[in-house]
Amino acid sequence: MFFVGAGPGAADLLTLRAAALLRDAEVVVHDGLVPAALLDAVACHAERIPVPRTQETGDDPGEATGRLLARLAGEGRTVIRLKGGDPSVFGRLAEEIRPLREAGFQFEIVPGVTAAMAAAAAAGMPLTSRAAASSLTIVTGHEADEKAESLDFSRLAEIPGTLAIYMGVEQADKWSRALVAAGKPASTPVTVVSCCSRADQTIAQTTLGECAAAFERCRWPAPAVVIVGAVAEASQAGAALTGRRVLITRPEGQGSELAALIAAQGGTCLHLPVIAIGPPISWEPLDRAILEADRHDWIVFASANGVRAFVERMRLARRDGRHLGSVRFAAIGPATKRALETAGYACDCMPSQFQSEGLLEALVGDRGDELPAGSRLMLLRADRGRDLLRRELEAKGHEVCEIQAYSSRSIETIDPTLLATLDREGLDWITITSSAIAEAAGRLFGDRLRSWKIASISPVTSATLRAASHSPTVEAREPTAAALVEAIADHEANVRESDDRACGVC
Ligand code: SAH
Repeated sequence: MFFVGAGPGAADLLTLRAAALLRDAEVVVHDGLVPAALLDAVACHAERIPVPRTQETGDDPGEATGRLLARLAGEGRTVIRLKGGDPSVFGRLAEEIRPLREAGFQFEIVPGVTAAMAAAAAAGMPLTSRAAASSLTIVTGHEADEKAESLDFSRLAEIPGTLAIYMGVEQADKWSRALVAAGKPASTPVTVVSCCSRADQTIAQTTLGECAAAFERCRWPAPAVVIVGAVAEASQAGAALTGRRVLITRPEGQGSELAALIAAQGGTCLHLPVIAIGPPISWEPLDRAILEADRHDWIVFASANGVRAFVERMRLARRDGRHLGSVRFAAIGPATKRALETAGYACDCMPSQFQSEGLLEALVGDRGDELPAGSRLMLLRADRGRDLLRRELEAKGHEVCEIQAYSSRSIETIDPTLLATLDREGLDWITITSSAIAEAAGRLFGDRLRSWKIASISPVTSATLRAASHSPTVEAREPTAAALVEAIADHEANVRESDDRACGVC
């Protein structure tokens, strides 16, 4: 019997031990904080039993779950009690353990990433700092009422450090007033992270004095964790994107680099994927190509997704570098190169311009004669997108084996309540990081694209946007996440400067 921390929601924030146990479990008893997708991602085939947070019978929900666990363990099955975040933080662990102990069952606790840690990481800030916070206090905001046994927030105000408030949104009015009344400055920075690590993660910046009104106005979806203290300002102070809301549209699980860069500039990130990456229609062409890899001169990767597919299929075919002969690897840009290197493969060629034209030039040289005539290239790419590289290489007499290593499909619809929230709260920027995303975003967001500022990753993406009559406000100077955020931040800094100049008083 195992109590296992599921982390904040993203499958890749599970510990390795948790993932291994889940793969072998027979029964998983989980609460609502744990997304089903996480269990699917670790190939968990166990019976899944959801348990409610509250009990209608008036029975203690923790004790009731503990009795259920004891019964299941008594049947001799491998039981996992899976809890959001870390099992020992606000998880009624004590109550659930009691019936197990009474029945004489052994158990193990596997820790997980608790919400405060995941939230601080998402917002690009520390929870403690030598200069500003030498303590971290984790509290529940749910007890901020006048009951005698409740937490005394006025005393918490005296602790010079960071407060991480769980379950705090509903009672924000009470605890924030109590903290301010006890002397914590109303200007104390507050960061709120809602749905941390999930597709619809939102990170917002406010102050202690204003947070209750902000929660009321914005109604960020639960669960949300609130971090109060000087650390909440550490990464945001004077940042160009403070107060700006930026939408990330990249596929699920691929928005974190952009999110961290935006958060580091003080912006509020929202993540609504408009395309999804999946397996190709058939693995057969890639599997066959892998068996013949050593007969090629180059394997060319047009994206990190291609690298991931290649590495995984190599692994399943029980192949490694010994089977690759003298084949060399080319990557379209730094993220693809990083993916190769992380998997233990060196990258022999990366262009200075991170797009098909640049890759072509890097392979064939300025005069087009560096690649020996009749070279054999394997090109790993999505099932849609430009085919410039293949056409040009073939035109130069090379043999190109183009393989669909993954599929990219547009998301059909966006949850109307999420769209309504976007409309209500407003959005400053939408980031468009490929032509496929440009097309999907145009279809899903329609005329909203005319009122939001558009940040485009490359001239090719900008051309796709323009073809649909959407004009990008900024374009990254090179197609990387860092350059995209830099372009947004530069634009905002210019706007601020001209606003300041226009203000006759200052
Ligand atoms: N055991 C969990 C906490 C359970 S209490 C943990 O260690 O994280 C439930 C509270 O946790 C929520 O009200 C919210 O404050 C916080 N929380 C859990 N998951 C979260 C997430 N993905 N994003 C933001 N807050 C989260």
